[in-house]
Amino acid sequence: MNKKLLDEMNIQINKEIYSGYLYLAIAAYFEDQNLGGFAHWMRMQAEEELEHGMKFFDFLVDRGERVELQAIEKPGSDFDSPTEVFKQVLEHEQYVTSRIYLLYELAVNEKDYAAQVFLNWFVDEQVEEEKNASEILGYLERVGDSGNALLMLDQRLKSRGED
Ligand code: MG
Repeated sequence: MNKKLLDEMNIQINKEIYSGYLYLAIAAYFEDQNLGGFAHWMRMQAEEELEHGMKFFDFLVDRGERVELQAIEKPGSDFDSPTEVFKQVLEHEQYVTSRIYLLYELAVNEKDYAAQVFLNWFVDEQVEEEKNASEILGYLERVGDSGNALLMLDQRLKSRGED
């Protein structure tokens, strides 16, 4: 595999695991706020991100490349309100999307077709991730950070993974 693409894929393992770490930090915030549904949703999100990291890990192994893990950054902890949190989540997912596009561009330039096919899954996944974050953010911006509507959303998020 092209060296630049390999380096960026190794960095992407870190970015995905960091995403999981960030969402776990957010889950801890929601637990602290007694918003169990939000916390549950974030925990599941964190698990998914670790799986994304492992997809990159396995892809590099399958290609006979060497995985090189980097230090994981400390996630932020200034979570002021559910609305602010989901603004951060949406922004973070948009950043991850830009990372996937960068990888894709490298794969195209290097005519690495296997990497392009592998990355297609992530292109679709990011559409889904941004959609989920912006739907919840849109709801929060409409109803605000307290009251019955917030608790109703908390109930709804509790059921993630049951269907
Ligand atoms: Mg991800």
